[in-house]
Amino acid sequence: METEEMTDGEIRTDALIVGAGPVGLFAVFELGLLDLSCHVVDVLDRPGGQCAEFYPEKPIYDIPGLPVCTGQELIDNLLRQIRPFAPSFHLGQTVSEVRPAGDGGWHVRTDQGTAFHAGVLVVAAGAGCFTPRRPPIPGIEAYEGGSVLYAVRSIEAMRGKRVVIAGGGDSALDWTLNLHEVAQRVTLVHRRPEFRAAPESARQMLELAEAGRIDFVLGECAELQGAGGELSAVVVKTADGGRVAVPADRLLPFFGLTMKLGPIADWGLDLAEGRIRVDTEKFETSVPRIFAIGDINHYPGKLKLILSGFHEGALMAQQAFRYLRPDKKLLFQYTTTSTNLQKKFQAA
Ligand code: FAD
Repeated sequence: METEEMTDGEIRTDALIVGAGPVGLFAVFELGLLDLSCHVVDVLDRPGGQCAEFYPEKPIYDIPGLPVCTGQELIDNLLRQIRPFAPSFHLGQTVSEVRPAGDGGWHVRTDQGTAFHAGVLVVAAGAGCFTPRRPPIPGIEAYEGGSVLYAVRSIEAMRGKRVVIAGGGDSALDWTLNLHEVAQRVTLVHRRPEFRAAPESARQMLELAEAGRIDFVLGECAELQGAGGELSAVVVKTADGGRVAVPADRLLPFFGLTMKLGPIADWGLDLAEGRIRVDTEKFETSVPRIFAIGDINHYPGKLKLILSGFHEGALMAQQAFRYLRPDKKLLFQYTTTSTNLQKKFQAA
């Protein structure tokens, strides 16, 4: 496998996979079977794509050979399955720039400045970038990135801060529970006494509120007070029609995610119906050495199913090998009978 840090700071890899959803993860496996190295970038802070974000605890019944598993179980199994190939993950980063490298490969950069030289690019970006839903609070943009954060990248950065968390889902409740011992004060704001979050998290949160260790306010964040992008209070419209100003240094709104194609739309690839057009032999886009697999692609008869994405990844890997190892013969091998592959699986 070819993975090395180049002197000019670019990470050299056979394949760069954009998207760590189920299809991006299985692509690591298919490329790994052919001895091709992978780096994987995802804008989210954990692998799993839609399975982990939208239905981690719901059952899936149509994965071949697995009568039933939850979204998260499928992702955990895929992560186990690709362990022999030791892919590197670059999470919390958006692939923002793709330029031809002159040798057939690609220079790729993320919004965090991570740079790659990739022999092939595999776009497994699902429905595009998940972007946080912005609450309708006038002037919130002025506070974003500093006082208003849609994801917690560092718990330490919350130490000693007065933190208002808005929402009733798992993220809102998990962060309320995780931050209350670090922050000076945590206030959870939610418009209803019912929660979408796991019942156990809601129970623990209410117990902390009853013990006076956090505040729980029934209402909606209506106004931000502060100056120069620095928050001083969040005004909450309470369920009984009143308004209370909650002193705050940080507001963390957790109202779910929407999906946008994002920067991929600017990479010069042929699009159809907002997705990337590919052939069905190699799942290659209109640009050689850029592949698109999973929900992001479009071809006649496409089914947006996980099993379709797995098949697409297998055929993509064959063509990637032909580009990346032009001097080697592509051997078709069964995992059951290849001693070379079995050594790798046993070592892992
Ligand atoms: P995704 O899972 O969408 O993953 C794409 C990843 O790419 C995301 O993590 C995203 O953050 C990342 N990304 C996007 N753009 C960028 C960028 N520019 N830079 C960095 N990262 C980026 N399918 C089934 O087969 N069976 C089912 O039972 C089933 N049930 C479902 C239930 C629900 C509620 C939903 C919403 C979907 C269901 N699906 C089901 C569909 C299935 O989840 C999708 O087909 C599958 O997730 C597609 O996988 P993917 O890897 O192509 O994309």
